[in-house]
Amino acid sequence: NGLIVSFGEMLIDFVPTVSGVSLAEAPGFLKAPGGAPANVAIAVARLGGSAAFVGKLGDDEFGVMLAGILKENGVSADGVNFDKVARTALAFVTLRADGEREFMFYRNPSADMLLTPDELNLQLIRSAKVFHYGSISLIMEPCRSAHLKAMEVAKDGGALLSYDPNLRLPLWASAEEAREQIMSIWDKADVIKVSDVELEFLTGSSKIDDESALSLWHHNLKLLLVTLGEKGCRYYTKNFRGSVDAYHVKAVDTTGAGDSFVGALLCKIVDDHAIIEDEARLKEVVEYACACGAITTTKKGAIPALPTHSDVLTLLNGPS
Ligand code: ATP
Repeated sequence: NGLIVSFGEMLIDFVPTVSGVSLAEAPGFLKAPGGAPANVAIAVARLGGSAAFVGKLGDDEFGVMLAGILKENGVSADGVNFDKVARTALAFVTLRADGEREFMFYRNPSADMLLTPDELNLQLIRSAKVFHYGSISLIMEPCRSAHLKAMEVAKDGGALLSYDPNLRLPLWASAEEAREQIMSIWDKADVIKVSDVELEFLTGSSKIDDESALSLWHHNLKLLLVTLGEKGCRYYTKNFRGSVDAYHVKAVDTTGAGDSFVGALLCKIVDDHAIIEDEARLKEVVEYACACGAITTTKKGAIPALPTHSDVLTLLNGPS
């Protein structure tokens, strides 16, 4: 299988032991390892693909624990660096009673933001068939420069570039800055996945339709995906567009659904980029990715809920 390299942050979310409380009211917290790019790498490996994660962790117990999770899941940690001083990133996350997610980040700065261009494992990145990234690694130097260099090296090596901006507004100095930085690398990507919320944010329009999605189209783009949670997903290529309904499942925690979706999609196209131009085959791939997203919502936490290929077949075909 061709290698999928995912670049960016890996961190620990601290999630309240009871639901529907504010962070201040939470009686205690459970560790939930995550970080979208790390989730994507694990999603790929769990489906049987070949994955590596590139980023930086603190040289502390949490950093060692996260590197262990990558390896246990069959993800190469050859591109992981450890910072001697800065800590592994932490985030406290709660789903309040009103359904809103509340985040509090401990990144001042955290190790992930201190990855330098010189620390990149260039050999690993050059061997990627797909190089995937988000936008959180663009927020601060030196990580921003490391991100830009890694993209360039991957592209030179012939990789397909995949971008999921994964907007986390509280991490940015302002909404304008977020929009500007997210768009600064827009036209480099071959594949872009946005959620409905990101589509609204980036277009500045509350309309979620083909017109607003296509306003994000760029000249070199091969595939644009807009995920809509329990409403499924829409996809756009140069020659056709379509939509896939979500699978009906009993959702308990949607964290990581988008990462699971992306991991599945990349897994299916890594060895055959031509799928993107084949309407029938692409639709099947998007259905598979939606099934992965749906399964991920049925269990608490992102990483424990990522499906294997056989879990997906069970959802698609019923128990064997
Ligand atoms: P996150 O940021 O939580 O990882 P996201 O907003 O990037 O997620 P979503 O649109 O929530 O991405 O989910 C990705 C895909 O997973 C959807 O297109 C859909 O197919 C599936 N999915 C998500 N939520 C549900 C749900 N409640 N029921 C069924 N399928 C779902």
